[in-house]
Amino acid sequence: MRIRVSVRKRPLSLKEKATGEVDVLQVAGGKGRVIVHQPKTRVDLEKVVESGVFEFDNGFGESCGNRQVYEEAVENLVGRVWGGCRGSVFAYGQTGSGKTFTMMGEGKEEGVTILAAEKLLRERKRKGREDLDVYVSLFEIYGGKLFDLLNERKVVKCLEDGKGRVCFLGLTEHKVDDLEDVRRLISEGGEGRSTGSTSKNDASSRSHAVLQFSIRKQKKRRERVGEEFGRLSFIDLAGSERGKDTDKSDKQTRLEGAEINTSLLALKEVIRSLALGSGTQHIPFRGSKLTQVLKDSFVGEDSCSVMIACVGPGGSDVEHTLNTLRYADRVK
Ligand code: ADP
Ligand code: MG
Repeated sequence: MRIRVSVRKRPLSLKEKATGEVDVLQVAGGKGRVIVHQPKTRVDLEKVVESGVFEFDNGFGESCGNRQVYEEAVENLVGRVWGGCRGSVFAYGQTGSGKTFTMMGEGKEEGVTILAAEKLLRERKRKGREDLDVYVSLFEIYGGKLFDLLNERKVVKCLEDGKGRVCFLGLTEHKVDDLEDVRRLISEGGEGRSTGSTSKNDASSRSHAVLQFSIRKQKKRRERVGEEFGRLSFIDLAGSERGKDTDKSDKQTRLEGAEINTSLLALKEVIRSLALGSGTQHIPFRGSKLTQVLKDSFVGEDSCSVMIACVGPGGSDVEHTLNTLRYADRVK
């Protein structure tokens, strides 16, 4: 199995423009070709920086909106849910590269999660699948533990059932009937995540946030919840630069860095092992909580995953950008 990998470049911010930051990234329209140029400012010229050319399934330049990213990179996967698919969409990249903007949206620009929910709810009606219900849950993976963002950060256990399916003990699932329900839950969950600031020390950069849509059959009389039919997860990964915080003096930061490093490496290893087709028993899902939680999206015929690698255009971010592009290149 191979996952589809897209790259998304955000525009230079006003602040970056004001400080004379230059755009060193070129994303060729349509094709996923990304060219990293040698930084042009005098300061950066003193650093020796590698430049390079990469190819991905899709490339989105700074003028692309969330809807285009959704339509070209995500929509196909959403449509597969009615066939019982378990799928994941990962946003990878350094803090400030546009992961949350892409996933959750900002202001009038709706995120790909909302656009996906729109399609799910619309198709449910259109296809006459009212026998299936759509549920939303939101949790955070931090320090190897899961916290329910829609239930006072209560700890959630992740287990495998007899059929090898991943299930969550103690995770609240909220039935949604329209987009307003979804928007409300996302904003509620966002508060639980102590976001609101885009500072590089923001807690959101140090944890993985997972928004899950569960498609369930309507529950039978004796059941507490209906049997799960399909599942879609959207993962706003921890800032990739955080994995390098392993030599910081502050112990907490070091531990967090090590944990993030382990989980992002485990994710890469799992995806690479799957691409090599070496049989599921050799896939290192146990390498991290993140890969355990998302195992379903990688095994079985009905699994499918997409990665959106987010990058900033600025010359002073070029080393992080190259790291992101190399990571994305390894998983494609
Ligand atoms: P991350 O979640 O990766 O840390 P954010 O999504 O918070 O990054 O984005 C950082 C900043 O850049 C935010 O102020 C956001 O509004 C802006 N931004 C990100 N992507 C885009 C985009 N495609 N177009 C316009 N602004 C963007
Ligand atoms: Mg973010």
